Amino acid sequence: MTSLPEAHCLPTHIELWQETMNWQPTDRQQLQLQSLYSEVITANQQLNLTRITQPEEFWEKHLWDSLRGVGDLINDPAALQVIDIGTGVGFPGLPLAIARPDWQLTLVDSTAKKVGFIESIAPELGLTNVRPIVSRIEELGQNRSHRHQSDLALIRAVAATNICAEYALPLVKVGGTAILYRGNWTEEEATSLELAAAKLGGEISKIDRFTTPISQSIRHCIWLHKITDTHPYYPRAIGMPTQKPL
Ligand code: SAM
Repeated sequence: MTSLPEAHCLPTHIELWQETMNWQPTDRQQLQLQSLYSEVITANQQLNLTRITQPEEFWEKHLWDSLRGVGDLINDPAALQVIDIGTGVGFPGLPLAIARPDWQLTLVDSTAKKVGFIESIAPELGLTNVRPIVSRIEELGQNRSHRHQSDLALIRAVAATNICAEYALPLVKVGGTAILYRGNWTEEEATSLELAAAKLGGEISKIDRFTTPISQSIRHCIWLHKITDTHPYYPRAIGMPTQKPL
């Protein structure tokens, strides 16, 4: 692990983990989370990866937010095949790989620099359950090795809601779930997303509203249940989901 000044030590917040998620990191997981923070801060000096650098803010906005997004699944015994779409430097995927070593996580982003960072730090963190991939998600969604393969697709801070649905649902197997991490949420978005999800073989199954434990910020995680295989037409060609959102 890279050594850093004390100012870059993460808070543990064991009670907050327990109160808010009925989960807490083991000593090993706590060290891995600290290593993740240290690696991001060190790399950030050259690569400009994230604006969230202060320990408390990093804990809440990158670590807690990533894990809380999957709700009760964090304590579910099932070992899941998970894909994190537009993962950036690994959020929410890396905290989940640490919290759930029995899950297999594919972390996808179109920016090689960010995926290269994940590739370089995964061994440092002792993670053998992550598979970083450089790709546009529109291409991966049409790739047989990835289409309809995941139990769970996660997408945080990538695009507007209906675009996220077109990126995520083609990758999910029937019976699986896509979770869209959002901040605010409106009835109009819900109505529009319901129509888009139906075109993609899914439906809204849950709207999980919560506040973050330190800054009390509003979050919504929108759960889409996959009902039928997605029509081969989706996802459309690169750029189409953003140019003409469903
Ligand atoms: N999910 C991370 C987080 O919450 O910290 C990163 C969010 S960052 C604002 C959005 C990321 O999505 C960028 O790294 C970008 O390269 C990626 N991205 C956007 N559109 C994409 C696409 N069509 N295919 C693959 N990656 C995409």
